[in-house]
Amino acid sequence: MSLSEQQVRTLVQLAVTTTPDGMDCDGCFGRVAEFAEIHLANQPLPESLRRVEDHLQNCPCCKDEFEALKLALVSVVE
Ligand SMILES: [Zn+2]
Repeated sequence: MSLSEQQVRTLVQLAVTTTPDGMDCDGCFGRVAEFAEIHLANQPLPESLRRVEDHLQNCPCCKDEFEALKLALVSVVE
C-alpha cells in the first residue's frame, strides 16, 4: 500500500496540528509561567488557563518545562 501525496500531507498536518483542546506547545509555553504562579499560590484556575493544564497533562515536554519553572519559582519565593 502506498499513500498518495495528498494523504501524506494530511498525515503531516495531523502530526503538527494542535491537540484537541486547541492549545499547542507555543501557546502553552506563552502561558505556563502564569499557570505556575497561580498553581503555587493555590489560587483558583481561571478558565483561560484550563487549557494549559490540559495541555500539560498531554504533553510530557511542556510538563517538564512546567516542573522546572515551578522549582525556579519556589526557590525565588523561599
Ligand atoms: Zn506541549
